[in-house]
Amino acid sequence: MFVLILYQMNSSKLSSQNSQSTNTSKNPKEPCVKIIPLGGLHEIGKNTCVFEFGDDLILIDGGLAFPTEGMHGVNVVMPDTTYLQANLKRFRGMIVTHGHEDHIGGISHHLKKFNIPIIYGPPLAMSMLKGKIEEAGVADRTNLQSVEPRQVVKLGQHFSIEFVRNTHSISDSFALALTTPVGVIFFTGDFKFDHSPPDGKLADIERMAFYGEKGVLCLLSDSTNSEVPGFVPSESSVLPNLDRLISEAEGRVLITTFASSTHRVAMIIETAMKHGRKIGLLGRSMLNVVGKCRELGYIRVPDDLFFPIRTIRDLPDKETLLLMTGSQGETMAALSRISRSEHPNVQLKTTDTVIFSSSPIPGNTISVSHTIDKLVYLGAKVIYGKEHGIHVSGHGCREDQKMMLALIKPKFFIPVHGEYRMQVLHGKTAVSMGVSPNNILILDNGDSIELRANSMIQGQPVKSGIEMLDNTRTGIVDARSLKERQQLANDGIVTVLIPISTDGNMVAPPRVSLRGVVTSADPRKMSLWTEREISWVLENRWKQLSRQTGPKTFEVDWIGVQREIESGLSRRMRRELQVEPLVLCLVQPAPSGTPTYKPRAISEQQNKKNRSNNPQVNKNQSNVNKGRDNTKQNIKNQEEEVTGRTRRRRSALTT
Ligand SMILES: [Zn+2]
Ligand SMILES: [Zn+2]
Repeated sequence: MFVLILYQMNSSKLSSQNSQSTNTSKNPKEPCVKIIPLGGLHEIGKNTCVFEFGDDLILIDGGLAFPTEGMHGVNVVMPDTTYLQANLKRFRGMIVTHGHEDHIGGISHHLKKFNIPIIYGPPLAMSMLKGKIEEAGVADRTNLQSVEPRQVVKLGQHFSIEFVRNTHSISDSFALALTTPVGVIFFTGDFKFDHSPPDGKLADIERMAFYGEKGVLCLLSDSTNSEVPGFVPSESSVLPNLDRLISEAEGRVLITTFASSTHRVAMIIETAMKHGRKIGLLGRSMLNVVGKCRELGYIRVPDDLFFPIRTIRDLPDKETLLLMTGSQGETMAALSRISRSEHPNVQLKTTDTVIFSSSPIPGNTISVSHTIDKLVYLGAKVIYGKEHGIHVSGHGCREDQKMMLALIKPKFFIPVHGEYRMQVLHGKTAVSMGVSPNNILILDNGDSIELRANSMIQGQPVKSGIEMLDNTRTGIVDARSLKERQQLANDGIVTVLIPISTDGNMVAPPRVSLRGVVTSADPRKMSLWTEREISWVLENRWKQLSRQTGPKTFEVDWIGVQREIESGLSRRMRRELQVEPLVLCLVQPAPSGTPTYKPRAISEQQNKKNRSNNPQVNKNQSNVNKGRDNTKQNIKNQEEEVTGRTRRRRSALTT
């Protein structure tokens, strides 16, 4: 949904309304640049943004996101690219800002679906991407081109893009200045203003100021830390603390961080070397990133600093540092396996010091605490948390965001890369920096913005959403599969096996099995309900679901029959027991003329009907039931007797 936030200059209150910008009065017929984010808004992850003008369409970044709670068996989350695929004829190429997974992790999956004419990006990101697309077997479907800072590339007739160095937690990170027919659009990428970056490569503030001076039509800026006041500390501020902790450690040091935080990884490696410790690398991404960084000269250390994990145990503990993945408590990562004593080569010792040079990203807090807990239980000294000064964010806080606004001085502003509240706060910051409240849009994925020299308005939204890939990264977990997995995990499964003759009669009692279902209902009651649902379907739906094709031959839509029974039983369980197990009905077709089984449900229902016609009998019955059922339940039963079944609505299972 498109949401426009209008900021009231005279009031601190923010009013939100679904309306168009006041700029709609400007000629909407003039050609415009369209900005269509497909991912990365109302979230941190899967940054993917389309820019287009006339015949040219380009893509900036192609990230993935990680699953949230309840996405059982989902490995990665991708943006829906229906819109992009429908417009491939105009697709001129892609720009990558830096090598983090939320910016490049989705590209190899896109390449399985469509070719990308060319991808420009910084050397480290291109090197990491090369590995990914080769592994996925799609390297021939695109052309990777590394770019240098201040290099300008042209995509199509209408876009020329200058790469402007910024500072972030990974080496080689760029902001982009897009020169378009309607004006300059500045896209910050992920950034902080780090005036003492570990690699000494400063943000190109002069170039940012140059564009600001020249005039920037629209700024799209990183909102991750809008909630945090002040400037984010420099990455280098971590070094003295890491140095002290590593030097104080009596035994081995086990240290974890994001492999893609290359500045941190480099600092850890250099500190280990300084203190005479050899390094063992654990985790695929750690080995991969360190390899790429050494190839490109971003980490310059001798080969003999690194020891294979199998032989490093022969060294004295005091001369060992193990650098590993698992900072987010990921189940299969090295540190998590060590915490469960499941790692084939590393067993934790009570003399070990374990350092978390990271902070859990929202959603991972619980798994990180569990990992820490297990490590403490095994007797190691575990160092984690803000007070140790061993982690800083790679994203600028409010003052960094202000500095970007001050340098770029945009006419229009779109806060990107953040959850909704972060985008809103970033919008407020922009207002405080002089951007007109009417010139700020808070977007969602799929929104389409039309940008002209004098206006920024809402266009037609495009299809957006998510695609979930399962653990093999090939199978797609669609909404229905996910709902089924959630039902299985939360409420278990009910299977119903039922023989029905082709002339529409139940020929044996149904067999009902429950797995993982916690219910107060006894099996007899479940059987009664099931029989009742089946009888209802046979009485009321059979005509629509079957067709007589000969004197004794019938064509039956067995899938339809199954679905009807499943949805009826699901509804009943939801209503009666407040559980929503997955209901799976399997019909065994029997030949026409097979003797009919008379369901108990029907006979009981008949008896009850007779009883309810006689108020006296009914009253007595209620008294008899008092000990077992409450009055509410009796009222329910009576209601049900009238219709013989739960009120029918099409359920999620059948649609
Ligand atoms: Zn990043
Ligand atoms: Zn990012």
